[in-house]
Amino acid sequence: MNTKQSKTKTPFSVFMRTLYTEGLDSEGFEQLCEEIFSAFYKAKVKRSFLFENSNTDFVVLSSDRIAVDCRHPAKSPIGRPAVEKFFLAMKSRKVREGIIVTSGRFAGTAQKHVEENDLPITLVDMEKLAAMAYKAGIKLVYKKEEPEAFTIISNSDREFREHLAKRLKQELMCSEDIGLNVTILSRNITRVPFYRINYRVDAEFEASGKIIHREKGEGYFYVSERTGKIEDGSFAKIFDMVPRMAYTPEGKEAGLLKPRKQITESLYDRVRSVHTKYIPYITGSDKPGVKTCIPSKKDITVQNIMCLFLPVSDVEYELFGKSRNIRSLESSSDDFIVVEPSRHICDICGGRFAAGGTVCVKCGNIADAKHGVKCTRCGKTLCVSCAFYVSRFLGKKEPICGACANKETGAKIKSYK
Ligand SMILES: [Zn+2]
Ligand SMILES: [Zn+2]
Ligand SMILES: [Zn+2]
Repeated sequence: MNTKQSKTKTPFSVFMRTLYTEGLDSEGFEQLCEEIFSAFYKAKVKRSFLFENSNTDFVVLSSDRIAVDCRHPAKSPIGRPAVEKFFLAMKSRKVREGIIVTSGRFAGTAQKHVEENDLPITLVDMEKLAAMAYKAGIKLVYKKEEPEAFTIISNSDREFREHLAKRLKQELMCSEDIGLNVTILSRNITRVPFYRINYRVDAEFEASGKIIHREKGEGYFYVSERTGKIEDGSFAKIFDMVPRMAYTPEGKEAGLLKPRKQITESLYDRVRSVHTKYIPYITGSDKPGVKTCIPSKKDITVQNIMCLFLPVSDVEYELFGKSRNIRSLESSSDDFIVVEPSRHICDICGGRFAAGGTVCVKCGNIADAKHGVKCTRCGKTLCVSCAFYVSRFLGKKEPICGACANKETGAKIKSYK
């Protein structure tokens, strides 16, 4: 390695952009080539058609005009006829230099033909393209560097019981240790797929004949295969962090490696809304205006799709003797996502609530703030059905537990109803 290279390596690795070939259609591949060649030759790229009835070519404008022929997807190797045809088109358009770039491979006859006839054509395969990209400050990911699907290690029953108890402790008040009063009755684990879809946006917006905004960015979303729902940030926070293992889906599961069309469509919608900007500008008649800049579908490139099979567990558990069901999406950490019930349900009134409820240590009911009480004598947490009330002056009632009620002498004691 010479000094020049090692000097430039550090800033490159810090600021290097990454482009992916995964998931690109022919148009996307052309865009990718456009970016790489324009960075490599430090030249503007102009699209034009080199062949009649063909729309797959573009021309790099540098000191010399260079014609580029993009071949993707390329199922069969590119041979001598393709090179001959390209050279004829170059001659007729008076282009002196040409590049054929493919995501596939070149047949030996193609390279031989170029060499024997000393043609001004460079054959660029992905390895070569990646090398050119690297020199231009772009990391090109073209090999499957990672397997397509992953999973994570699911918790043991004992671990899950601990995580569940911890969660219940955070959300519910209880005078006794919830951890000692949770029992897992059954736990059934299945794996359901989620997609992590990486995208890139690059859009230009014009108003009054001027470019007023360029929206560039990249990101990713997790999407559920089952519901098509785009998961929120807390999902990413958990599942970005947990260690993944390569997973080889088989049979029906293997068919889920590629997301359904609706799923990528919903991603486009989300990306469009995330990257919509309202840009102020001066109109043709010198007045201030605001343009709503919404990237179009062609401004968005899906770069990489990873399939993550996550363990979903259906659990029946007992809390203070009362049995309950919970469906959750587990991680190998102590974080998990409760799918159903999404919120606690008050056993007295059926109302839903997120936190601040009470566990009745007598009957195992979960009660919301309105239907949970604390014994004013011993502090036991109860539901209103299990509580007694001591009448005080001016109609004031104090909730107490049964044991404390027996110790009360002379007071007027009533049950809830
Ligand atoms: Zn209630
Ligand atoms: Zn109760
Ligand atoms: Zn009591």
